[in-house]
Amino acid sequence: MERIRGGWVNVPEHLKCKTDLKEMGLKPTGEAKAEVWNSHIWVKLYDINETAPRKPATEKQLAAIEKARAAQLAARTCSRCGEIIPKKESLFQGMCNYCRESLFIKETSENALELFRSWVHDKSKYLILDTETTGLDYDSEIVDIAVIDLDENILLESLVKPVCPIPEVATIIHGITNKMVENAPSWPEIWPQIKQILSAGKIILIYNDSFDIGMIRSNCERHNLPFTAFESICVMQTYAEYVGNYSRYRRDFTWISLADAAYEEDIRLIGIGSHRAKSDCIACSRLIHRIVAERGVEVESVKNTS
Ligand SMILES: [Zn+2]
Repeated sequence: MERIRGGWVNVPEHLKCKTDLKEMGLKPTGEAKAEVWNSHIWVKLYDINETAPRKPATEKQLAAIEKARAAQLAARTCSRCGEIIPKKESLFQGMCNYCRESLFIKETSENALELFRSWVHDKSKYLILDTETTGLDYDSEIVDIAVIDLDENILLESLVKPVCPIPEVATIIHGITNKMVENAPSWPEIWPQIKQILSAGKIILIYNDSFDIGMIRSNCERHNLPFTAFESICVMQTYAEYVGNYSRYRRDFTWISLADAAYEEDIRLIGIGSHRAKSDCIACSRLIHRIVAERGVEVESVKNTS
């Protein structure tokens, strides 16, 4: 069979494909005369002089066609927004990509709010911890540590004298100078007290828990002190999920600094200072309470857990 190259423009007027014939109310009676490349398949072409009129479809046939079309359309219609998705895409759990993602963000945010509520609801189960350090590396040292409860009672607040001097860049952030820590206890001196608090069975809420836990661990390692793991929840991650600022690129929620979160939630921090361990603990506690207070009554699922 002749293969026509160069696409439809090179097809002579008297040759038609089945779809064209159908539109003209015709069907082929003879063999295909040629083929044309239609971007992904070879399409058979028939001579228009070897055709016969198509019989009109019966009611039953029309109904079957209509049914098949509707089913095909339904399979591409998002159950949430009603949009028909392109043929290349597919629905997941009946939803388009956009709806699936926005539902995921909405559900994650609701779960985060539930988590905030559960902390306030069962205040006695939780403590808040924060540290200030000489830097952000593994080798950095803790120079300030505080633990409070959700009523802002202070369980521990102490400066810590590091082995190495505090670099100026760190002092600019938290305001802690080498002079201030001169007479402070060293990490080995204060660790038993911290360890006792952390091992009392409470869940420790920390704004960026992986950083603070990493710091506590490395400070223990530096002084050959055995580090015991404790249960913690990252308030920064929970807040990011609550806000719902989802990055499609990173496939995670965008973190927000404690200072930005406090500003965002309109939390008054006047009189408690800033970027010190205790003040950051208080800011964290107020952030939690503010979110729960703003979002009204607790939902049933939280009440039932008590
Ligand atoms: Zn949709």
